[in-house]
Amino acid sequence: MPESFDVHDHRHQMKQLNKSSDTELYENRDGLACPVCTAAFNRLFVLRGDGKQFPENDGARFCLLNQDAVYLFRH
Ligand SMILES: [Zn+2]
Repeated sequence: MPESFDVHDHRHQMKQLNKSSDTELYENRDGLACPVCTAAFNRLFVLRGDGKQFPENDGARFCLLNQDAVYLFRH
């Protein structure tokens, strides 16, 4: 089971690149470990709204559904 991840615990170790009313995007500045696989991640996308659709830019369009919160760690 992955460890939980609280943005506020690591706020000083990440640079916020983008923020909207229901999404946040951070850059990992301090080699923070991904709570899922333990390797350092590159960016963290947080979805606090209900859902978001991403356009096709480098592949097929995808959609995220949020039922509590979604944390997407990109490597
Ligand atoms: Zn990972």
